[in-house]
Amino acid sequence: MVEASEEVYSSLHRRFKGDLLRSGQSGYEEARAIWNGMMARKPGLIARCVDVSDVQNAIRAASETGILTAVRCGGHSLPGFSTCDGGLVIDLSRMRQVTVNPEARRATIAGGCLLGSIDATTQKAGLVFPSGVVSHTGASGLILGGGTGWLTRRFGLSCDNVEGFTLVTADGSVVRCNSNEKPDLFWALRGGGGNFGVVTEFEVNLHPLVTVVLAEGLAAEDDIRPLLEYWRDFMAEAPIDLKWNIDLRLAPHTNKVPVKLRGRPVAGSSLVWTGDPEVGRPYLERALSMCNPNSVSSKTISFMNLQTMADSDFPHGRRYYTKSGYFTYLDDGSIDRLLEAVVTIPASETQIELAYLGGAAARIDANETAFGDRRAPFILNLLANWSEPSADAGNIAWIRGIFNTLRPAMKSGVYTNFMSGDEQDRVVEAYHERWDRMVAVKTHYDPNNFFRLNQNVPPRQLAAKSL
Ligand SMILES: Cc1cc2nc3c(=O)[nH]c(=O)nc-3n(C[C@H](O)[C@H](O)[C@H](O)COP(=O)(O)OP(=O)(O)OC[C@H]3O[C@@H](n4cnc5c(N)ncnc54)[C@H](O)[C@@H]3O)c2cc1C
Repeated sequence: MVEASEEVYSSLHRRFKGDLLRSGQSGYEEARAIWNGMMARKPGLIARCVDVSDVQNAIRAASETGILTAVRCGGHSLPGFSTCDGGLVIDLSRMRQVTVNPEARRATIAGGCLLGSIDATTQKAGLVFPSGVVSHTGASGLILGGGTGWLTRRFGLSCDNVEGFTLVTADGSVVRCNSNEKPDLFWALRGGGGNFGVVTEFEVNLHPLVTVVLAEGLAAEDDIRPLLEYWRDFMAEAPIDLKWNIDLRLAPHTNKVPVKLRGRPVAGSSLVWTGDPEVGRPYLERALSMCNPNSVSSKTISFMNLQTMADSDFPHGRRYYTKSGYFTYLDDGSIDRLLEAVVTIPASETQIELAYLGGAAARIDANETAFGDRRAPFILNLLANWSEPSADAGNIAWIRGIFNTLRPAMKSGVYTNFMSGDEQDRVVEAYHERWDRMVAVKTHYDPNNFFRLNQNVPPRQLAAKSL
C-alpha cells in the first residue's frame, strides 16, 4: 500500500512551486526540527509553500488522502503541534513578506513571518506591531492565539491589532474576513488558534515607537515577598505605559549578576516604560529600590534591542514543558506557594514567569474576540527548560506539582499559547462561555476537523461525542 505522504507527493510534485522534502533528502533533517527539542518527529512530507496556491494545493491533496496535517509558521508550538510523525507539514517559512503603509500605519504580514521579520520592516518607518518578547517566535501562531508582549498594556494584544485575515480553509478556498466580511470567522480567529484554516496574510495596525526605557533588577530570598506584594498592589493602578514582568528563578552565573547572588533564588524584574522617560522615572526608581542595589540598571534602548534581548535565553532544540493560568488577584497564600516553589527549581534555566495584563488589553470586551475574558490580569507561566532526555520526567513532574498547588487559587481559563499538549480538557476551559460559538464557526469552516493539530475545537459532531 502506498503511504499517504507518497500519495500527496505524487499529487503535488508537478504543480508545487516551493520545496517538497521527504526523509533522506537534503534539507529534510533541518526542516523537520522545531523549537521544542522534546518534539522530535518525522513527517512523511514537508511542503514548504511559496504562495497561496501552494497552500491550496497542499490542503486539497492532503484532504483527498486523509493524511494527518500540521501547519507551521515559526515552529514554536510548545506542544509540538507544528509537526507530526508520518504525516504532512504545511511549512510557511518561505512566506515572510511584510509590507508597510506608513501613512495609514498599516502592514500586511505573510503567514510565515517571525516576529523579528515584522519588527525589522516596521521599524524602518518608526512603527511597531505589538507582539511577543522573543524575535524568533512565529507571528502566525502567536497572533492567532492572542499574543502578549512588552506593548500589550499600551496597545493591546496582537490579535486586537488585526484588521483582517486571508486564509485557506479546509476545502482549499481562499477566504477573507474582517469586521464586516464574515464577522464570526474574524471573531474566532482572534484567539482561536489554527482551528479554522491556514492564514496566509494578516492586515494589522501599527503604532509609532522606536525607543523604550528598560529597567532591570534582582531581589533575592527575603526581599522577594515584599517585591511581589508591592508589584501585585501597584499594577492595578499602574500607567499603561508600564509593563513590569517578574521571573522567579535561580540567578544565572553571568557577569551581569552580582557574584553574591549567582545561583540563588531571585525575583528578576524587567520593567519597560514606553512613554515620556521623565514621567516614568519615579515608577522605575521605586520598583528598583526593592531590588539588590548592585543588580539594578536603567537605560533607554531601541525597540529592536528590546525585542531581541531574550532571544538567547530560549534557544532552539532544548527541552521545554509549560503550564499556565490566570489569577484575578495574587493572594498571600499564592505568594507563599511561589516562594516555596522557587527554592525547588530543578534547572537553572527554568522560570516561573509572572506578568500583569490590564491596560489596553483589558479594554476589549470578553465577547469581542475568541480570546475572551481579560478580567483576570495576572498571568502565570511555569516554564521548565532543560537539555537531557533523562531529566524529562523530573522536570515535567516539577511543573505539574507546582501547578497543582497553585491551581485552586486560579481563575478558570487559560491562554492557549501557553499550554502543553496534554491539556485537551483545558481547551474547553480556555473558551468556556464562547465554546458553542467556536464550535459553530469550526463546524462551518472545517466540518471534518482537518485542522486538528492545535488546541482543538472540534466540529459539532465530534464535540457532541466527546461530551
Ligand atoms: C521562545 C518562545 C517565546 C514566546 N513568547 C511569547 C510571547 O511573548 N507572547 C505570547 O503571546 N506567546 C509567546 N510564546 C508562545 C507562542 O505564542 C506560541 O508558541 C505560538 O504558537 C508560536 O507561534 P509559531 O507560529 O512559532 O508556532 P508554530 O509551531 O509554527 O505553530 C503553532 C500552531 O499555530 C497554528 N499556526 C501556525 N501558523 C499558522 C498559520 N499561518 N495559519 C493558521 N494556523 C497557524 C497551527 O495550529 C500550529 O500548530 C512564545 C513561545 C516560545 C517558544
